[in-house]
Amino acid sequence: MALTETAALEAGRDFIRDIVAADLAAGRHRSVVTRFPPEPNGYLHIGHAKSICLNFGIAEEFGGRCHLRFDDTNPTKEEQEYIDAIERDVRWLGFDWGGHLYHASDYFEQLYQWAEYLIREGKAYVDDQSPHDMRATRGTLTEPGTDSPYRERSVDENLDLFRRMRAGEFPNGARVLRAKIDMASGNINLRDPTLYRILHAKHPRTGTTWSIYPSYDFAHGQSDAIEQITHSICTLEFEDHRPLYDWFIANLPVPSQPHQYEFARLNLTYTVLSKRVLTGLVREGHVSGWDDPRMPTLAGLRRRGVPAAAIREFVKRIGVAKANSVVDFAMFEHAVREVLNRTSPRRMAVLRPLRVIIENYPEDKTETLEAANHPDDPGAGTRQVRFGREIFIERDDFMENPPKKFFRLAPGREVRLRYAYFITCREVVKDESGDVVELRCTYDPATRGGNAPDGRKVQATIHWVSASGSVPAEVRLYNHLFTRPEPNAADFAADLNPQSMEVLTDSRLEAALASDNIDAAVQFERQGYFYRDPDSTPGRLVFNRTVGLRDTWAKVANVA
Ligand code: ATP
Ligand code: MG
Repeated sequence: MALTETAALEAGRDFIRDIVAADLAAGRHRSVVTRFPPEPNGYLHIGHAKSICLNFGIAEEFGGRCHLRFDDTNPTKEEQEYIDAIERDVRWLGFDWGGHLYHASDYFEQLYQWAEYLIREGKAYVDDQSPHDMRATRGTLTEPGTDSPYRERSVDENLDLFRRMRAGEFPNGARVLRAKIDMASGNINLRDPTLYRILHAKHPRTGTTWSIYPSYDFAHGQSDAIEQITHSICTLEFEDHRPLYDWFIANLPVPSQPHQYEFARLNLTYTVLSKRVLTGLVREGHVSGWDDPRMPTLAGLRRRGVPAAAIREFVKRIGVAKANSVVDFAMFEHAVREVLNRTSPRRMAVLRPLRVIIENYPEDKTETLEAANHPDDPGAGTRQVRFGREIFIERDDFMENPPKKFFRLAPGREVRLRYAYFITCREVVKDESGDVVELRCTYDPATRGGNAPDGRKVQATIHWVSASGSVPAEVRLYNHLFTRPEPNAADFAADLNPQSMEVLTDSRLEAALASDNIDAAVQFERQGYFYRDPDSTPGRLVFNRTVGLRDTWAKVANVA
């Protein structure tokens, strides 16, 4: 990244914000109006979050407004479920469109009138060619297309046919309305693009009123013009469409002239940000749904425990550029950790329990010990954790034959139980197949709270829960959904990670987690951040690992 770009990023600026600022300073606009225009054919993903933060962010920063507009021009793929999910997700991210909720379908009548206008101007015609012939006569990047035999139809004939298309007289695909621009244009988008197609389909909002629907290209820019959008911000794929959008704006009596600016879409390693692929994952059952915590959707990330603030912070850090690139997933996780480290209450949980009996602790006794909710924030207070004769520690925190650098529990060795006592391992109990099933330990009553009065040291502090002070739980650990940093979108199933989810069914959680009323991720000490899953029932908690504690990005970027 160039130095100037880094400086701009730190100042929260980018080339689009510079353009907006310059336009306002020069009086080209009195206030800025942007929009976020999703097509309701799937759930929003973190790539959309980049666009949402940019559009709503600019409106906020410059005192303008941002519209939410559903680009609902394709009734065969669009559903109310997606409309509801998109509204919920934009709100969850922290943005508000106020009263400015619109739909391309609000403008169907106006768009239709503008199509007739183009016909009357001799700038649009009804084409009867088959879809196959239309493709064949379109030409290629190096060869011009050829004119349709229907290109020179009279205005009257075109008007008549177009009105009959609207009236539903013809079957799907029989005819289209095309703009009459230039079949030899170097830009394929200008080779007489389709404006309207016949589609006898029920629309979620307009029902069966229409049997023709405008193309995305014909609806998009004109919708912006109707809403007086000042800066139409979109991703780079639409750069080649801009001349077409400008042609419509120049050739129609639209109420304003929006200008389009393109930025690089977000790509993230080890995942895919394509609705087509995400839809495939859901339909083919590779994930449990759009909100599967492994999905890069906002619904999935939310269910995983990622806070909206972390997504906003991540988007701010990646900035807005004009060249496509791929962002390391570890950078996203780094932002999540930073936010959660600041805000998450600490709890103890043993994911893979190993039973420990404290032999010299009285059978019928339990006691409560005080534990800090956040090590750096005394204001977060403390909580009580129950200690007793039977406890659980993490299997990984014990080794029967420890190598040199393993400092945690081992036969004959003393360690500290966090917030509790020093314990020493006296005996290892195994089952008939030789697996360790229990440890017999002793504790030193003088070390209550975790310090020895004689000043003796131990080399490790481990977490624990007591049998009577914990509840059973299922914990779901997640890894990358794909095995390769840049999965093949054409054959995504081949790159799926068979180990993307690991389910631990006999974890034990500190009892406070059963009664906590925290709707946010918590830190399980020494493990990572975890968030309660809606699959939880009163009798059985289910937690998702949002992200582990180990930060690979901090190392790469040297930013920790
Ligand atoms: P599809 O994959 O169906 O073409 P899409 O991902 O482009 O869909 P839209 O609903 O058309 O989805 O997107 C709404 C807006 O979000 C568009 O302005 C689009 O440019 C932007 N957007 C989509 N994907 C990304 C991304 N990865 N990064 C940044 N912006 C994105
Ligand atoms: Mg799109």
